[in-house]
Amino acid sequence: NLSDKLDKAFHILKGHGKITEINVAETLKEVRRALLDADVNFKIAKDFTTRVKDKAIGENVLTTLQPGQLMVKLVKDELTELMGGDVAGINLSGNPTVILMSGLQGSGKTTFSGKLANYLKTKKNKKPLLVACDVYRPAAINQLHVVGDSIGIEVYSEPENKNPVEIALNGVKHAKANGFNVVIVDTAGRLAVDEEMMTEIANVHKALQPQETLFVVDSMTGQDAVNTAKAFNDRLNFDGVILTKLDGDTRGGAALTIKSVVNKPIKFVGTGEKMEAIDVFYPSRMADRILGMGDVVSLVERAQEQFDEEEARKLQKKIAKNEFGFDDFLTQIQQVKKMGNMKDLVGMIPGASKAMKDVEIEDDAFKHIEAIIYAMTPKERSKPSIIDVKRKNRIAKGSGTKIEQVNQLMKQFDQMSKMMKMMQGPGGKQMMKMMGK
Ligand code: GDP
Ligand code: MG
Repeated sequence: NLSDKLDKAFHILKGHGKITEINVAETLKEVRRALLDADVNFKIAKDFTTRVKDKAIGENVLTTLQPGQLMVKLVKDELTELMGGDVAGINLSGNPTVILMSGLQGSGKTTFSGKLANYLKTKKNKKPLLVACDVYRPAAINQLHVVGDSIGIEVYSEPENKNPVEIALNGVKHAKANGFNVVIVDTAGRLAVDEEMMTEIANVHKALQPQETLFVVDSMTGQDAVNTAKAFNDRLNFDGVILTKLDGDTRGGAALTIKSVVNKPIKFVGTGEKMEAIDVFYPSRMADRILGMGDVVSLVERAQEQFDEEEARKLQKKIAKNEFGFDDFLTQIQQVKKMGNMKDLVGMIPGASKAMKDVEIEDDAFKHIEAIIYAMTPKERSKPSIIDVKRKNRIAKGSGTKIEQVNQLMKQFDQMSKMMKMMQGPGGKQMMKMMGK
């Protein structure tokens, strides 16, 4: 699926120290392929990757996080933008507010009419009336009555009348006379776009002058969904899109493409057959869902806040001059700790929470290390080479640890300083590359 493919795309970047033009291009080629596979229109996919590329070139890589994650953030931001950026509200002005449903047969209009009525009643304290304007099948009127009964919403219908414009107008009259403040008009659809259907819905639209005309579309129909949206928008100039059946094995392409093709926001999504299966559409959450990557974004954002670039530069200088000591080590640990507790951090890394499920993570994994460093004198911290066995014993006692733990930390610190020194040297770049592989 799209998430797996994007994951593969970002994998390319893992291990590289800097986002270069080459690995960005490679990643974006994969991203584009993933988008095309998800049924996103070619031009949109191409423009999308071009925009991400422009942003990615020249970005600084965060000190401890993999550049792949920065790319994830750039892609996510762009995905969010593609889907409209902000949440689009529903216009509830007018007394009553008239909401007209449009869309093909089977797209989910009747089901969504019920869901919306229920949502407005329970969440927005409204008194909605449902109006049955699907006059072609007696079963359609009955279906709306069943839906209405299940949520305690009144349904207005005229089983003998075959004129949807009349029924719609009578429905609004009925609402005004009986204190309903929202009228949701369910209409008939066809299996494909045809002139008769378009004329009918256009007539209802003209007569009602609704506050909201919503276009309902089955997200599983992929690229067809986009073509249908265009046809309806050309006739109705609708206000928003409802994406249904997002609970199924949808490839997500429709959600990504519709906004840019008709320039109308997606307002709600349907995620099941039950009346409660309705969600306000949040572009950023949908982007998360498409990326399927836990909360990578907030992880990256938090890291960006915490890692002071200036600090990092100072540190590099120290390493170069062979002055890296335990005080700096402590600072590093504190930086990492500032980002949050270890469990939270691991949970935000894609894949890691699964892999680490059975591993016990101490919230204060650094407690011993810090205690040991605090037990050192300033001189010992800045010049660790003077720490002999006698000093080690004293440090162990002072920090309430065992001498083995002090030894272990000394060894780790030694390895780390050696490695850092090597990376500064002429062979450093080469080594970074090797480590990446
Ligand atoms: P209409 O012809 O546009 O009125 O479509 P319906 O409301 O009758 O829905 C057609 C079918 O899709 C019905 O079987 C619904 O139960 C189903 N359906 C509608 N919305 C959703 C949804 O969000 N998820 C799932 N899984 N099924 C849905
Ligand atoms: Mg229907």
